[in-house]
Amino acid sequence: MSHATDTTGTVYLVGAGPGDPELLTVKARRLLDEAEVVLRDNLVGEAIVESLPDRTAVENVGKRPGGDRTPQAEINDRLVRHARAGRDVVRLKGGDPTLFGRGGEEAEHLAHHGVPFEFVPGVTSAIAGPSAGGIPATHRDHASALAVVTGHEDPTKPDSAIDWESLANIVSAGGTLVVLMGVGRLPDNVSALKSHGVGDETPVAMVERATLDDERTVIGTLDTIVDRARRVGIEPPAVTVVGEVVNVRETVAHCLGSGAAGESGAPGEWSPAASAASPAEEEIEVNQQ
Ligand code: SAH
Repeated sequence: MSHATDTTGTVYLVGAGPGDPELLTVKARRLLDEAEVVLRDNLVGEAIVESLPDRTAVENVGKRPGGDRTPQAEINDRLVRHARAGRDVVRLKGGDPTLFGRGGEEAEHLAHHGVPFEFVPGVTSAIAGPSAGGIPATHRDHASALAVVTGHEDPTKPDSAIDWESLANIVSAGGTLVVLMGVGRLPDNVSALKSHGVGDETPVAMVERATLDDERTVIGTLDTIVDRARRVGIEPPAVTVVGEVVNVRETVAHCLGSGAAGESGAPGEWSPAASAASPAEEEIEVNQQ
């Protein structure tokens, strides 16, 4: 930090976790309580935003698909401007700031302008999303590899930006594939996996709004998930998990508590959705917690 002046503030690139305020790290909580300015994304849980002190200046720089966007260049400029005015800034992002969150780009920009910064890791939805639905990322008996991919390619990238053949091989070899930003292109991504040899019966789960009190989980196979997700109206944000680990949910669901904010059920409580589902409910297993 030798190149920063005494009056330059620090920018903290902070992960807010998947939404439940209790999944903020202790460090994130402290920084949020101390920051003069918070620049937040849309994905950050509202309960977390509401918990900020009244004196904190909160700027929503969220980007909505197809809606208003704050250009990345403007976000970058604002971070530098605030820091140069001597303010400590929290740049608050959903999940972990370095996973599909542009944390890397912002860090480069800050470093380029001599602004001190720190990454403050967060609980990523890539892991916490599946586990909220009772699905472990890996399992000694099922999967010993994990790939995380964006299901929504940047349209300016060439088609080959994601190597679906390699991803398909990971799943075929028993590994786990987690797809973020994959609701809109679910049919395309499923087709890509199938065309590279992943079996139709491979288990797939989608967890929507994981760790929030309206979290839902849909279970299916590569063959059925597109239809099931459409029928229950799964919308972003949701994570998709492909692989044998999805079957673990079946063996644990009846004892799966929800840590979601506002959920009254205690961990270990028998889940009626899992234990007393009618045949129709079993077909599309939606667990509205
Ligand atoms: N940095 C974030 C990911 C940003 S990309 C992280 O580490 O979690 C945005 C995608 O994250 C969404 O499209 C969705 O796939 C996933 N996501 C974020 N929060 C989620 C949540 N509460 N439940 C399910 N998926 C979530």
